[in-house]
Amino acid sequence: MPIGTDLRPPLTYLTRLPIQSALTKSPTLEGPRHLHPILDTLCVELLATCPLRCLHCSASASPSRRSLLPQDVVKAGLFALKSLEEIYFSGGEPFLYPDLPDLVRVATTVAKHVIVYSSGTFQSFDGLRAIPPDRLRLAATAGVRRIDVSFYAANAVEHDAITQAPGSFASTGVAPLRWTLDHWARCP
Ligand code: SF4
Repeated sequence: MPIGTDLRPPLTYLTRLPIQSALTKSPTLEGPRHLHPILDTLCVELLATCPLRCLHCSASASPSRRSLLPQDVVKAGLFALKSLEEIYFSGGEPFLYPDLPDLVRVATTVAKHVIVYSSGTFQSFDGLRAIPPDRLRLAATAGVRRIDVSFYAANAVEHDAITQAPGSFASTGVAPLRWTLDHWARCP
């Protein structure tokens, strides 16, 4: 999730509270359909697990947290909406979410643009590394058109101090992200 979370348009905040409420309750007339006229952009924080522990993280994500939104609940919330401009999948690290491509496919039926906020990193048994190419390819072919990755400094010492994850600067796989979107992103 980019450091500029606090700078997101106010509409994001307007949409987040009712949508999170809608995702935890059954959709009702007081839920997403009723609120739809004000919706433009939706940010869904899918899970709290992330390989990084950024000092500024608004989701308090970390490698040890395991909570996530159930997939059927997210899908029900997405199906209840129509004609959004953008849907952002955030976290935690969305590429760690089970079956992200399936959610992306649903999101493309609701929004013009599907975007992923990513840490750009992946936790494996031997430490941090770039996100595996197969996960990137599946998300891109499902409809992800943009992946946002944050660098908090132009050097590893400062970046890793903010992410509290040694090796995160070196592991952030920008090249594979760009290659994936160039080669696999679905045409409109
Ligand atoms: S990369 Fe992970 S820890 Fe850092 S701000 Fe984003 S979700 Fe939070």
